[in-house]
Amino acid sequence: MMELAPRMKKIPPYLFAQLDKVREEEQKKGGEIYSLAIGDPVEPTPPELVEFLAQSARRLENHRYSPYAGILPFRKAAADWYKERFDVSLDPEKEVLTLIGSKEGIAHIFLAFVGSGDRALIPDPGYPVYRTAVLMADGEPYSVPLLEKNDFLPEFGKIPEDIARSSKILFLCYPNNPTAAVVSLDFLKEAVEYCRKRDILLCYDNAYSEITYDGYVAPSILQVPHAKEIAVEFNSLSKPYNMTGWRLGYAVGNQYAIQALGVVKNNIDSSAFMALQEAGIFALKNGKKWLQKTCDIHKKRRDLLVETLRSAGLQVRLPKGTFYLWVKVPNHFSSAEFAAFLLKEARVMTAPGTGYGEFGEGYVRFSTTVPDDLLQKACHQIREACREKKLT
Ligand SMILES: *Cc1c(COP(=O)(O)O)cnc(C)c1O
Repeated sequence: MMELAPRMKKIPPYLFAQLDKVREEEQKKGGEIYSLAIGDPVEPTPPELVEFLAQSARRLENHRYSPYAGILPFRKAAADWYKERFDVSLDPEKEVLTLIGSKEGIAHIFLAFVGSGDRALIPDPGYPVYRTAVLMADGEPYSVPLLEKNDFLPEFGKIPEDIARSSKILFLCYPNNPTAAVVSLDFLKEAVEYCRKRDILLCYDNAYSEITYDGYVAPSILQVPHAKEIAVEFNSLSKPYNMTGWRLGYAVGNQYAIQALGVVKNNIDSSAFMALQEAGIFALKNGKKWLQKTCDIHKKRRDLLVETLRSAGLQVRLPKGTFYLWVKVPNHFSSAEFAAFLLKEARVMTAPGTGYGEFGEGYVRFSTTVPDDLLQKACHQIREACREKKLT
């Protein structure tokens, strides 16, 4: 077989590959596996929205290529939504770009700014795409640790100055996947100042901006004065409206970066299906009424899971956002061992923290994107397994 490109050899083995094997073996032995490993909502997309897409899909003028940057009405709806939600003003023509899901834009922005040997500052633990996308661009990821003692925020002072000065991009994501940590606007001010002083493009992943609890309201990086000089934010319709399979998101912010990302995309894709973008407008304009229900569902599951894990003797913070719980593994376990323990003894599948970076060691991630009855069974299983094995 012909040899792969050198960059492919740097891409680590698939996150869940090892665990998948164990899972297969367990399933062969029979019986159900309760997977709390993946963050993909099981609730359906709101039916009104599905109906809207169906009608839009029938319109012949929607069957042709979309404008490369996305249809202007969708970009305008995103700008209007940012104005209402964050009081951030955006020029829909220059500061908003349609994405085929935010993951697409997150991966492609590196091609626009990171060349061979260029550095990017990547949160660790973090969404795996940041790191692999740097590698795909032949760049060098530099891990910025997110530690529990710092509430999973980076310590900018600890990044060596020569590393920072030679970095093109800093990625941040709050509410955070996988740690479920949230931020204050004060921290975002610090991040903007850090990047402005060093001419670093600050990429802010706000995929969970609407998935929050207990009165916490997530900020946008663009609420920080002067942020637009150096920042772009990625947002998505996937998580708030249960639209993960639909593939629609957008990037907003610094027009130079938005334009550069647009150039990369012009040469790779031809934007999203126009009917889908029209449905996206409908979601952005009408989504508030669905959001409360979505957050209530996940909050209830979060509370059940936190109570279960705490009563099993595990240490877990009550998160104010995301679908995740970032749980400290008992002392004598590694992340992978504890994930394997839960799989074998409780038949519950979780994501080992090391799948998100070396600083994810010592944690496993649970997701609440499962039906209530499955979660209840999984919780029962966890309680039994931890009691039997006298975990703590
Ligand atoms: C789910 C997720 C995304 C990507 O969502 P899309 O469906 O591609 O819009 C981006 N970042 C984080 C942290 C996520 O968890």
